[in-house]
This record gives sequence, C-alpha cells and structure tokens, in this order.
Amino acid sequence: MARKIAAGNWKMNGVEADLVQVDALAEAVAAASCDVLLCPPATLIAPMAARAGLMDLYVGGQSCHAAASGAHTGDISAGMLADAGATHVIVGHSERRADHGETNEDVAAQVTAAIDAGLIAIICVGETEAERDAEVTLNVVASQLAGSIPTGALPAHIVVAYEPVWAIGTGRTPTLEQIAEVHDHIRSELAARRGGAANDIPLLYGGSVKPGNAVEIFAVSNVDGALVGGASLKASDFGGIIAAL
Ligand code: PGA
Repeated sequence: MARKIAAGNWKMNGVEADLVQVDALAEAVAAASCDVLLCPPATLIAPMAARAGLMDLYVGGQSCHAAASGAHTGDISAGMLADAGATHVIVGHSERRADHGETNEDVAAQVTAAIDAGLIAIICVGETEAERDAEVTLNVVASQLAGSIPTGALPAHIVVAYEPVWAIGTGRTPTLEQIAEVHDHIRSELAARRGGAANDIPLLYGGSVKPGNAVEIFAVSNVDGALVGGASLKASDFGGIIAAL
C-alpha cells in the first residue's frame, strides 16, 4: 500500500508574512492520517522548514535543475533545496513544461538529481484539453511516465501526480470515472516496469482539489492523495483537504 500524501503547491505565491498559514495548520497536521507536504517558493523553504520542524510537516521545492551546481543563473539545484530543509521536490509540473519548455528527458534528469540529493521526486503528468478531446489521454500519460521516470529510480523515492492541464486552477475536474481510469492506467503502467513494487508509489490527483470535492476524489481507486495549488494557500482550505484523506 502506498503512503497517503496531501501536498500543497504554493507556486509563485507567498512572502514571509504568509507563514502564519503554516502555524494555522498545526492542528490539522497533528490530526492527519497522511503525510502533509507544502512546497512554497524557494525563498520560503528555509523559514517554512524551521516552523515545520515543530510539527510533522514536510517542506518541498517546486522544481530543481538537473545539474548539481554551475553556471545556471536563476536556477536551484536539488542539493540546495535539501540544504534549505526540503525533503521533496515537484518535477515536471505542466507550468514548468509549458513556461520553460521542459521535456520528459529534462524531467527524468531532474528526478535523478533529486534522488541523488536525497529528495523524494513528485513527478507530474497530465493531458491538455485538446488531448482529452482527441481521446489520447492514456497514451499521453503513459509516454510522459515512460520518458520522465529514470529506470533506476526506486519506488520509495518517487511519487506520481496526475494533473490534467485543463483542470489546474480552473475549478473544473474530470469525472470520478475519468480519474479512476487514468490512475488505474498509471498503476498498471508502473507495474509493467516495476512489478509489485509499483503498489508502493503514491499516486496523487491534482487540479482544482477543494475541501468540497476532496472526499469523493480520495475515494477513487488508486488515488493516494492530492497535489493542491490554490486551496493550499489558506490553512482553512488545506486543513479541510488534509482531514478528508
Ligand atoms: P490547483 O493547482 O489546485 O490550483 O488547480 C494544482 C496544481 O497545479 O498543482
């Protein structure tokens, strides 16, 4: 059985004053029956990790460079994230794939770098609306999985997040049947390569998860948690999602 995870992605939101939201999560984290992770902007990883150490909260980065160091202005290495207190890093988010042209090969190299630095890599996959309409969702997700997960990555070091691009930040979600179809497919694709160990890889759903839809989404087959954007910014909303898992 895979671990259950409620993960929040603050994206490019938050300054030091917003860390009060972390303090406000203390009760929800203490009562949680899942791992709870927040991925703030890189500037907040160290101060968030300092507060998170007082409770059972994990802190992660939102991206990392594939190289350990060097002439890459503006980038951050996985080792730097770990040094700042991160235990996880999101890789291959659709916003990184779209805004920075990251390919499956780039993502796979980042996963390797993350694992080498001792981080757990949360690998994002998901179809665009045009791909869903063209009924190629399962093929798209399978090829993203095949290309973005390095063959040497151990199940204990990776998490997969299924995030339909058209559901991110839109308030729209797939039907529960559609989520189940993709998550079951991801599990079987992973099992084809990893055998029974694939059952240990947490599969998160992401895209417009809110306290109001979390219970039904978490009841779907092969959904082990969520990657939450907008609703992770406020402790009251994220706390509701944590409690649903
Ligand atoms: P959302 O974002 O919850 O705001 O839709 C999810 C994500 O991009 O991880």
